[in-house]
Amino acid sequence: MVFISAVAGLAAQQGRIDPNAVPVEKEPQHHMVFSNDFIRVVDARLPPGYTTLSHTHADDSVAITISPGREDAAAMARIGRAGFSEGGYSHIVTNAGTIEMRFIVVELLSGSEKSTAAAFLDGPTHRLETENDRVRIYRIKLAPSESLPAHQHNGAFLAVTVSGGAGPEASSGITTEPPTAFNPDRRLWRLSNWSPGKLAYSKNGISPEIITEKGE
Ligand SMILES: [Zn+2]
Repeated sequence: MVFISAVAGLAAQQGRIDPNAVPVEKEPQHHMVFSNDFIRVVDARLPPGYTTLSHTHADDSVAITISPGREDAAAMARIGRAGFSEGGYSHIVTNAGTIEMRFIVVELLSGSEKSTAAAFLDGPTHRLETENDRVRIYRIKLAPSESLPAHQHNGAFLAVTVSGGAGPEASSGITTEPPTAFNPDRRLWRLSNWSPGKLAYSKNGISPEIITEKGE
C-alpha cells in the first residue's frame, strides 16, 4: 500500500498557453472526479495509442502517476511519482505504450492556501516528499497488515491510493474492513479495499468527507 497525501496551498505561475486548446476538463479522457472551493481532481486515463487534444492546465497541480503506459522497468518505476507543476500551460500527451496511461491530477485552485501548520507529520509512515509555497506532499507506505499509527492532520487533505489495498498482494493478511476507512476515535485509516487511483478527501483533517472510486 502506497498512497500520497497532498495538502493544498497558494501561488502563481507563467507558462505557454495555446489559444486553441481546450480547458483540461473538456479533454475527453480527463475526467473530473472531485471538486470543491480549494481543489479539483482530474482522473486522466489515456488508452494505448491515444493522443489528447491540446488542453490547458490553468491551475497549479500535482500529477500522480498511477499507470505509466508501458511495462518496462523504467516506466514501472514511475508509478507513484507525484510531480508539482505550475499552472498556465497547454500540452498534448500521447500514450505510445501498450497499457493504459493514468494520472490523478490534483489542481490547487487559486483560493486555496497551504496549511500553516508545521510539517509535524513527517516520520516513519508519513514521509514529506515535496513542499513548496502551494502544497505539501507526503508519501505513506504500509506493509501488508501494517496500520498507520495514531496521528492528526491539522488541515484538509486529499489522499490518493497508488498501489496495494485490494490488489492480489493484499490477500495475505490485510483486514477486510470496508473503506469507510476512518475511525475518528482511534485516528486510524483502514487501508484495505483501497485500489489504485482511489481518493479520500478530509475537510478538517479528522474524518474524510468523501471517499470516491471513479473511472473503473
Ligand atoms: Zn495535461
